[in-house]
Amino acid sequence: MLTGRQRAVAEVDLEAIRHNVRRLMRDLPEGAVHCAVVKADGYGHGAVPVARAALEAGATWLGVATAAEARELRAAGLTAPVLVFGPLTGADLADAAEAGAEAVAWSVPFLRAAARLGVRVHVKVDTGMGRLGVRPDEAAGLCARASEAGVLAGLMSHFATADEEDAAFFELQLGRFTELAAGLKRRYPGLLCHTANSAATLRGPRAHFDMVRTGIAMYGLAPANDDPFKDGLRPAMKLVSHLAGVREIGPGDSVGYGRTWIADEDTRIGVVPVGYADGVRRALGNTGEVLVAGRRCPIVGRISMDQMTVRLPGGWGRPGDEVVLFGAAGDGVAGGASVAWTWPSAPRLDDRGTPRILCEEVAALLGTINYEVTCDVAPRVVRRYRGEAPAA
Ligand SMILES: *Cc1c(COP(=O)(O)O)cnc(C)c1O
Repeated sequence: MLTGRQRAVAEVDLEAIRHNVRRLMRDLPEGAVHCAVVKADGYGHGAVPVARAALEAGATWLGVATAAEARELRAAGLTAPVLVFGPLTGADLADAAEAGAEAVAWSVPFLRAAARLGVRVHVKVDTGMGRLGVRPDEAAGLCARASEAGVLAGLMSHFATADEEDAAFFELQLGRFTELAAGLKRRYPGLLCHTANSAATLRGPRAHFDMVRTGIAMYGLAPANDDPFKDGLRPAMKLVSHLAGVREIGPGDSVGYGRTWIADEDTRIGVVPVGYADGVRRALGNTGEVLVAGRRCPIVGRISMDQMTVRLPGGWGRPGDEVVLFGAAGDGVAGGASVAWTWPSAPRLDDRGTPRILCEEVAALLGTINYEVTCDVAPRVVRRYRGEAPAA
């Protein structure tokens, strides 16, 4: 029997993206704006559809990491201001200029090059991230040079620990930025000051300044890899495949490379046509779980490049049945309950009783964070969108 399903689909709910943008903008101070961070192809969700949905919901800026990502947004016809966060080579800077994007500056030579091309800059100050940016005592000097060159647009910083429970270092960074921003805004009243990522945005208005830059929370994922529902977020992505085959095996039979799983009794095995080349990490072999037609089933054996195997309850599962790698079973949206949890006690049902697997749960199992789980979903996995706005 041939089924109508595609082998692997990342379903992205654009209404969830809009809901999350509105939620994140809820507490912004008067006049502050929202920058939707769509770098890395929108954390795997698709930069252009996500950017459109975010702008529909009230975001006014787009944030990316590279000049090529800025060009992709422009090629799709998006005209909102774009800020490129990452360090740029000369060639990248020319691309950013062509895209009419703004850039982040922390050195005099870069500032000169940006000024020559007429690229407006946001001066980056290192308040404690320890990566890029000028020292706080150098920020005023660089702003003055940018202002003289006519390209000063903003002042920014980035938090290292906004997602951690202990707020001491967050407060230290916030204090440094608050002081700098206050002084420089007196000198340059139009200066756009911004430093909040998702975690800092959710901590409340003291870190919001003139703009917040949110990525992970806009995708409905929890910045601290815990419970996204406690902040009223809705996960946007569901990774789904189907049963390509079902077979009964007997005691002593093994499945997959290396024979790492051997049946000790009569067992029903489902074969799922996704593998590590689709972004289902190999480390989930003999460890992770999936939802087959709504029931939790363990992944058994190694995950291959293009396939994996799961153990089915007796009599359960037919070819073509839905297999959810993460997200909610069936037509459910992975939403609802606000339940504090820590792996392995993740709530398995949402508040409507729909079985689900959260990205946070998969990440915890892998010893990583939810960011990596959606970024890993490979380009060969088809993206399908729900909740697209009707064509104007
Ligand atoms: C990626 C990024 C963000 C967004 O971070 P989230 O934790 O995903 O909200 C914000 N600012 C900068 C500079 C970034 O690089």
